[in-house]
Amino acid sequence: MREFNYHRPRTVAEAAALLKGAAGAKLLAGGQSLLPVLKLEMAQPTDLVTLSGIGELRGVRVDGNKVIIGALTTHSDVASSADVKRLLPGLAQLAEGIGDAQVRNRGTIGGSLAHADPTADYPAAALGLGATIQTDRRTIAADDFFTGLFETALGADEIITSVHFPLAEKAAYAKFANHASRYAIVGVFVAKTAQGVRVAVTGAGPKAFRVPAMEKALGASFTAAALDGVTVAAADLNEDGDASAAYRANLVSVMARRAVAAALG
Ligand SMILES: Cc1cc2nc3c(=O)[nH]c(=O)nc-3n(C[C@H](O)[C@H](O)[C@H](O)COP(=O)(O)OP(=O)(O)OC[C@H]3O[C@@H](n4cnc5c(N)ncnc54)[C@H](O)[C@@H]3O)c2cc1C
Repeated sequence: MREFNYHRPRTVAEAAALLKGAAGAKLLAGGQSLLPVLKLEMAQPTDLVTLSGIGELRGVRVDGNKVIIGALTTHSDVASSADVKRLLPGLAQLAEGIGDAQVRNRGTIGGSLAHADPTADYPAAALGLGATIQTDRRTIAADDFFTGLFETALGADEIITSVHFPLAEKAAYAKFANHASRYAIVGVFVAKTAQGVRVAVTGAGPKAFRVPAMEKALGASFTAAALDGVTVAAADLNEDGDASAAYRANLVSVMARRAVAAALG
């Protein structure tokens, strides 16, 4: 790991100024994804700007029909939040299934979304619930946020401040996890909302994606049986040591059914 300058701002504005002031600066949240990257020297920032001193970025609050989660809120805090458990139990369950206790105690929702690992869990919830990502300068719909493999719509010096999740009538997540890391080989988040049904998949492709054919079938009848015969093509899916593309395509169907069954309770 190379040497870098370390900054601990107290406000988002201060963090933004530090990022603007050094072209090679990077934000640090829980460090669960960034530190391995630094150790492998896959990134060599001149400056690290930790968000850990910015209290306004932590915590869960409810505003009307939305659950708003601060970017620096850890996976454990999302999983144990009484509001999340009551209003979006599928999201609490998703957070509880991330990595191990150490990862959940350090890793944050903002870091997870910004990192945009194709096998991470939160991208499925953000897309599945139709969340919006609030940054220090704009609001980005989850549908527009994930742009490619480890790529997002965020600018280089843009800071996620919170994630706004609309409430759903029913919602749940089902994951087929890598047994060592708990990352998703395939994870499917299903949500039934007043605006319709959303189905979002992580782990299967280069970025999280929605499945319109499943959304249509579940819009007509929100039952696992409605997914009979509705499949995703293997052609564009990931193929690696964990699973073939064809296996992943089958897992999308299986996990979607499990998510619907879980949402129906
Ligand atoms: C052993 C292990 C197992 C894991 N298992 C899982 C799993 O099962 N499921 C899963 O989803 N994830 C898993 N993870 C990843 C984990 O969830 C990380 O916490 C998450 O990916 C990154 O969050 P972080 O807060 O640690 O971010 P960091 O590592 O600090 O940062 C990650 C990236 O995001 C940027 N960033 C951080 N915060 C912000 C912000 N507010 N605004 C803009 N950019 C920001 C950083 O600059 C960096 O580029 C695992 C990690 C490990 C080490």
